[in-house]
Formats: sequence, C-alpha cells, structure tokens
Amino acid sequence: HAKKRNILPFINERLSPDIIELLRDIGRAGDEMGLDLFVVGGFVRDLMLYRKSDDIDIVVEGDGIAFAKHLAVMKQGRCNTHREFCTAVVILPCGFKIDVASSRLEYYKAPAALPTVEMSSIKLDLFRRDFTINTLAIRLNQEGFGTLIDFFGGQRDIKDKSIRIIHNLSFVEDPTRVFRAIKFANRFNFTIGKLTSNLIKNAIRIDFFKNLSGLRVFSELKQILEEENPISAIELLNEYHLDKVIHPGLILDSSVISLMESVKKALAWHDLLYLDIQYARWAVYFMVMIRRCPVKVIDEICNKFRLPPRQKNMVLRDRIRADDRLYLLEKSLPCKNSGLYHILSIFKTEQILYMIATAKKEEARKAISFYYTQLKDVTPLIRGKDLLTMGIKPGPAYRDIMQKVLDARLDGLVDTLEDELEYVNMINQNRYPH
Ligand code: ATP
Repeated sequence: HAKKRNILPFINERLSPDIIELLRDIGRAGDEMGLDLFVVGGFVRDLMLYRKSDDIDIVVEGDGIAFAKHLAVMKQGRCNTHREFCTAVVILPCGFKIDVASSRLEYYKAPAALPTVEMSSIKLDLFRRDFTINTLAIRLNQEGFGTLIDFFGGQRDIKDKSIRIIHNLSFVEDPTRVFRAIKFANRFNFTIGKLTSNLIKNAIRIDFFKNLSGLRVFSELKQILEEENPISAIELLNEYHLDKVIHPGLILDSSVISLMESVKKALAWHDLLYLDIQYARWAVYFMVMIRRCPVKVIDEICNKFRLPPRQKNMVLRDRIRADDRLYLLEKSLPCKNSGLYHILSIFKTEQILYMIATAKKEEARKAISFYYTQLKDVTPLIRGKDLLTMGIKPGPAYRDIMQKVLDARLDGLVDTLEDELEYVNMINQNRYPH
C-alpha cells in the first residue's frame, strides 16, 4: 500500500505562488473531466530535496491527450500530442511546458515476472520508472490536493541518500538505467544501494549492454557530462568498469580524471566571463576522455554512438588539430599577438577550452585565454569600399590587405581608421612602388 501524507504546508513554503496556482489549475482541469491526476517524478523528487525543478510531469489516470487539450484551452496555451505514446505537451503562453502522460491499465503489457495485478494505473506507471526516488507522486485534484503518495519507499531513500531500483529485473529491462543510477548518485551526492550496486555489477558481468543501442548509451553519457560536476560520475563509471562497456579500448584512469579536473576549471573560468555563450560542455569532457585512444578506437566509439558528422568532426578531426596546434604554440611562445591569432583562430569554444585544459605550460594556458578574451573578435575598421575609394582594384589582393591590417591591429600598430588607411597606403606602395 502507498504511504500517503499531506505536504501542502511544505508545498506552500517551497514553491512559488505561480507554480502552486498552476498546479491547482491542473487539478481543477482534471476535476472538470472527472480524472485523477498527479505531478510525478523529477519535480516531486527535487521538491523533497529542496532543489529547483523546471519540468512538470503530469500523469493522468485516463486519457492524457484529451486532458492536455482541455488544459491547453483553459490556460490559452498550445498542445502537441504524441498519439503513439499517449503523451502530450501543453505549452503555456509564457513558454512554460507541461508534460502529460496517460496511465491506463490497458496500456501496460505486464512485464514478465512482475506481479501487475491489483495495481492502480498510477502505481503501475510509477512501477515502470527507474529508481525509487523518481516514483513519488503528488495528487493535484482539488480533493486531496497536496497529498504525497509513496508506493515504493521513495521518501525513505531520499532520507537515506540512496539510489535504489524498484525491482530486481530493472537493469534487465533497461540497462541504460546503470548510467542513470550513476548520474543521480553524482548529482545528489547519494550512494547506490547495496543490492542495486550488486545488480549493476551483475549487469556488467553478464554484459546486458550487448544489444543496447549506442545512441542510448551516448544520450546517457552526454547527460552525465552535461552535469554541473561530472567528475565523480566518471570515477564511478571507472569503478564499475563501464568504460569497457563503452569500448574495450577506452581507459578512464586517474590521469584522465585529473585532466577532467582541468576541464572543470576551464569551463568555470569561461562561464564566469561569458554566461551567454552556449557551447557543448559534454564535448570538452568527452575530448579529454578519448584523447589517448588510437584514432581507430575513437572512430569506432563515434560510430557506435552514431554521432552526427559535425559532432564527430569536433571530437576527432578538430580535436587532433587542437593537439597539433597546442604543440606548435607551446614551441613558439612567446609570440606576437598576430602569431597567436593565426594558430588559434580556426577553433571554436570547445577546442579552445580543451586546449586550455590540456596545455602543459602555464604560459600557453595564459596565451590561449588571452586570445579568447582579447583577440578572438578583433576585426579591421576599414571595409572593402574604403579600398575601392583608394583606387585599389577589387580582387584577391583585398583579402591579403585585410589580413595585413588585421595583423597590424592585433599587434597594436594601428588604432584609428586613419591609421589603417595610412597602413594600407604603405602596403600598397610597397606592392606597387612608383
Ligand atoms: P532530470 O532532472 O535529469 O531531467 P528527471 O528525473 O526529470 O531528471 P528524465 O530523464 O527527464 O529525468 O525522466 C523523467 C522521468 O522518467 C524520471 O523521473 C524517471 O522516473 C523516468 N525515466 C526516465 N528514463 C527512464 C528509464 N530509462 N527507465 C525508467 N524510467 C525512466
């Protein structure tokens, strides 16, 4: 039986009035259709952990799609439906999204060996989830609004700081949950329960991952690498020998872990300065994870993960280039700003951060950060039309001149537009002396 408890005071204390009002509206919409409904999963877990959550997942005992349409009309929002999965997303005018799923007994094929009879549909829905901490639900109907429903001991495990599966066949059903266990343990600083841990070891020993799509493993790994601090998760991956599940040639030893610490510092440095620049955080960690593997192994990992060509190029071709250029840079330091610019200007943020993290010399690290903060966006003031006015014939010479003006600007030889025009005159006279 479920443990039930009124947590309304807790909800009122923890959640913003807007969110509470929204949850109440969802409950009212359910009542209007005679449906029982609950907010479930990560939202409730994060509420109990005093953490902010951006997603609202609703489970409706009945037709979730019909409910979502009704809610969308009530809140003057939009509704996208996925008939195949009986799910829908309601998008409010402010852009906020609410995921809606249907729990109906007839949707569930009883998983082998699991006693599914005698379960309400909400219980069955929660039973199919990954860990007990994700199985908490809060009733939203007006009658009983704010009742926490705990079928599987989620509250106990939150208190114990424990990641536990709900039943022993969990990893047989879906081995990607092994990666999810590590993600949650790392994120919340929880430990993986003893039985769950043994079942993970068992899953690895018996190689449950054999038939698992690389795409799903990659999706979970990427989520881990996008976490605020993924390093202890990678240590845990290593302890469980999951590196070998990703690829037998992958080694996640202490030297990789220590480079990941450098990546963490580089990303923190970047994000402090440039909050608004988006980049693939996971890719910087990933490049460090695979950097010592032979190209053949990296190629196989990328193919197994079905990385799109752009991402594959980023972590393979461009990463090798970054290693080469870093080597060149460390040999050429100290160098002029224009020299630094030419070595680094082909790289995107991901490679720049990778180079900062992997540089052997502090001097190189400083030079790369200097390039990124001071030189990367420098451009000449003159335009093509200025060259035209000066009587220079349009053609390949323009690029050459612009490049020289850029170098002069980088090296502090010119400041104003007049300086640049004069500089162009000088170059031009040298090219075509009278
Ligand atoms: P996050 O904060 O990372 O978004 P979340 O718990 O909301 O955490 P999601 O990956 O968005 O995680 O999944 C939503 C819900 O779906 C989870 O609470 C979990 O119960 C369930 N879920 C997701 N993946 C699985 C899985 N592989 N097996 C079982 N349940 C899953």
